[in-house]
Amino acid sequence: MLTIGDYSLRTLDAQYFSLDGGSVFGVVPRVLWEKVIKPDSLNRVRLPMRLLLASGAGRNILVDAAMGTAWSEKMKRIYDLGEWRLDEELQRAGLGRRDITDVIFTHLHFDHVAGAFEERDGLLQNVFPHARFHVQRENLDTALSPNLKEKHSYTAAFVEALASCATLNLLDGACELFPGIELLPLGGGHTAGHQLVRITDGETTLVHGGDFVPSSAHLGLNRGLAFDILPLEVIREKTLFLEELMAGKWILYFAHDPFVEAAFVDREEGRIVVREPVTMR
Ligand SMILES: [Zn+2]
Repeated sequence: MLTIGDYSLRTLDAQYFSLDGGSVFGVVPRVLWEKVIKPDSLNRVRLPMRLLLASGAGRNILVDAAMGTAWSEKMKRIYDLGEWRLDEELQRAGLGRRDITDVIFTHLHFDHVAGAFEERDGLLQNVFPHARFHVQRENLDTALSPNLKEKHSYTAAFVEALASCATLNLLDGACELFPGIELLPLGGGHTAGHQLVRITDGETTLVHGGDFVPSSAHLGLNRGLAFDILPLEVIREKTLFLEELMAGKWILYFAHDPFVEAAFVDREEGRIVVREPVTMR
């Protein structure tokens, strides 16, 4: 566990899935990335969908919600969807679903939003009955009418379920959501309205990298996801972001890294690499 200001931060290892290795590593050839993560016989790499839990100041805040369970057998097979361990992981933190007061979505791609809903009586129902949901308005707009490239990354049923939640809080740009918890929208390189979450007490700072820097293997400036809609924008923004991160000695949180959940990063022989892993279990 890590403490920043009023908040205790911990990782919930809620679920795993498998993505095509090529889509995870973009233009990097398999002969290079398979040294980092070994693919299965279908060329897929096994990745976590970590949830970051920040507890304090009377709140239990989750960042993102993984995939959950409301998927067809076909989709479960394609993504080799793992067990949904939300309840066990919350229990480890002494909490239940009803204790979650807020869910911040970095963006609404299906592996970040779907776990906030489950199927009951043939309908998608909210998993967190007492939570407010926070997302950038721009991201919800793009999720409700996705472009052709992102059509399969935004799953209409979950986006519509979220859009109809009375507790949805739509944000228009950067803000300090709660003291010490800031939401920082990016320029739209991964998807329109993607936001980072920065937690700081002025001394220690942690930034949730969302799908902007989803793993330590994506610290390389040209190591983007094939899902990114504006790869050059990701490179431009990542260059600036990592400089700021290293200068401020911020911790970077990796939601999809199979080996490192968070780390201080630094430049070594011209490359940006993990200097010191940070464990938050
Ligand atoms: Zn994404």
